[in-house]
Amino acid sequence: MIVVMRRNSTMEQIRHAENRVRELGLEPHTIYGVERTVIAVVGDERIVARETLEVIPGVEKVMSVLAPYKLASREVRPEGSEIPIGRKGDVVFGGRRVHVIAGPCSVESRSQLMETAEAVKAAGASAFRAGAFKPRTNPYSFQGLAHEGLELLAEAREKTGLPIVTEVLTPEDVPLVARYADVLQIGTRNMQNFMLLKAVGALNRPVLLKRGMSARIEELLLAAEYILVEGNRHVLLCERGIRTFEDHVRNTLPLASVPALKERTHLPILVDPSHGTGVRSLVPAMSRAAVAAGCDGLLLEVHPDPERAVTDGQQTLDLREFEKLMAEIRAVAAAVGREA
Ligand code: PEP
Ligand code: MN
Repeated sequence: MIVVMRRNSTMEQIRHAENRVRELGLEPHTIYGVERTVIAVVGDERIVARETLEVIPGVEKVMSVLAPYKLASREVRPEGSEIPIGRKGDVVFGGRRVHVIAGPCSVESRSQLMETAEAVKAAGASAFRAGAFKPRTNPYSFQGLAHEGLELLAEAREKTGLPIVTEVLTPEDVPLVARYADVLQIGTRNMQNFMLLKAVGALNRPVLLKRGMSARIEELLLAAEYILVEGNRHVLLCERGIRTFEDHVRNTLPLASVPALKERTHLPILVDPSHGTGVRSLVPAMSRAAVAAGCDGLLLEVHPDPERAVTDGQQTLDLREFEKLMAEIRAVAAAVGREA
């Protein structure tokens, strides 16, 4: 960290600031300039909060040099992490292959689920998604089939061999969902549910962590850090769009976060163009763009009859649209040195 002293700070204040830095377990290196004095703080600055130094008398501002997350940082693994999912371990995120996780927003019924699972598998999806527990804005809206939904997901896995990705809403539900899911999804509304992050961090099962709709990418990486520090190193990050002033879409999908996250972290990055736009007609183009931007996977909502989908039909592709998009994704992946 760099501690910038005020223009009129006294020698006594500078000495005091140096002593406080030492007290905090770090080493001060003071640079006396013509205009003002700067203290370079050497050591792992992440053990000290910026505010702790900002309150020292005579300090004007404090600037961080290191990122506040450690285990999520690319420095830890410059080559990037490869994260296998599923029982066979043959679906690996973070390698050359761009994997597509597809399925309906919600588990609705056996026939809806099986038909979608078979179709997305035939079209080339690597994993199957659907929510059994749904986080709904309105308490009167469909909340998901819960345990019964998990049973149906397990059946879909038996039928297709596709690993299952499904959301967990509370720490109490983690053991139950982990009995069924190959990947536990933490949704946008729970990105900073720290108790939930700790609970999935204690598992030995991959976690798909979605960006909070109002979270900065540093906050997303700190949320991932909560999981990593508990011992679970299998974290997939997902850009799913954020809230902005723009209203022609449900969310704004900031694809620059893909290369920006790639610079900062070794964790694989997925993109969810379904929630990222909230508009079906925009999903194919944003999926192609996400692959071109370097993502490691896509999360897509697909339903045999989106018009009758219980949740998120407006952003859901039908089976034919999905099949067509898969072919386009393969072409874009090949163009950027990947495969899909
Ligand atoms: C979902 O994937 O169905 C979902 C609820 O996503 P998000 O948390 O991004 O809204
Ligand atoms: Mn949805």
